Amino acid sequence: MRCVTYSRNVFLPVTNLCRNHCGYCSFRRDAGSARLIHRHEAYRLLARAAETGCSEALFSLGEAPWEVPGFQKLLAEADVSDLLDYLEELCELALELGLLPHTNAGILDDGALARLKPYNASMGLMLETTATVAAHANSPGKSPAARLDYIARAGRLKIPFTTGLLIGIGESWADRKEALEAIAKLHRSYDHIQEIIIQPLDPKTGTPLAEAKRPSVDELCAVVKMAKAILPDSVAVQVPPNLVDPRRLLDAGANDLGGISPVTTDWINPDRPWPELETLAKELDGPDGYYLQERLPVYPRFIERGWHGIKTRDLVAALADESGLVEKKYIC
Ligand code: SF4
Repeated sequence: MRCVTYSRNVFLPVTNLCRNHCGYCSFRRDAGSARLIHRHEAYRLLARAAETGCSEALFSLGEAPWEVPGFQKLLAEADVSDLLDYLEELCELALELGLLPHTNAGILDDGALARLKPYNASMGLMLETTATVAAHANSPGKSPAARLDYIARAGRLKIPFTTGLLIGIGESWADRKEALEAIAKLHRSYDHIQEIIIQPLDPKTGTPLAEAKRPSVDELCAVVKMAKAILPDSVAVQVPPNLVDPRRLLDAGANDLGGISPVTTDWINPDRPWPELETLAKELDGPDGYYLQERLPVYPRFIERGWHGIKTRDLVAALADESGLVEKKYIC
């Protein structure tokens, strides 16, 4: 039996206001219909997550919402004066309730990154691709150079980092290789990439890519193998089990299933429910199978180095077993 890790999490969509217009996104909203999560809703979700044994609070938001007209009104309606202050407040609330924050806030400047680092066990940003694709024509934040620069700046701050590729948005095989090599190069420089997500496009009705072809499992297996060949073994390869049956991808070398939430939906892919952990464990069990091992949002080797945010250290120490994973070993 081989080990496959996952994180038990709660997913808080802080705001769906975003400066970008990615051709596959159904999460983003314009100012008139966008939401900023209210304190009472955040508290309710975090408390529910704590009750159900989660250890990770994933805070995700549209990129640079402050660039979109109407943002200040959205803040005012939620009685928030500053988004960064609010993110810190939400992270503190998560920590108080026993949950480790992992924030993906799009590209931030150095000051914002440094302010969020102490509150976060790890942070993330999908590179998605290094190619220029039509799906990103109206998304200034999807500039590959800007995203690689952000991942490098996180590395300079010693932030354990999650990134990945979005497969099927118009990129070629050469582009996929180039993106993986770019991540590997950053990792060689800063040694901060803890996992790389291989995420298939999930075409959404009403988006420009609604009719795009969903990547096949064979194609995804080949990308996983490519990632394993390019990245060192210490970097986990993650596949999302709500978007693809993970079994063949695990056989191809993936070894992590990412965040699985018993509390919230995957807000980016809301019609793709998480599998039940017990069901997943049974499906992966058996000869030449896998057992599920819960992990924290920061991987053990970064705990050893003390790279997780200073405000997360007591909680990490309380939640991690001697190997840096979560105490309860098996789902079944
Ligand atoms: S995918 Fe992310 S960056 Fe792109 S429009 Fe949606 S929320 Fe914004």
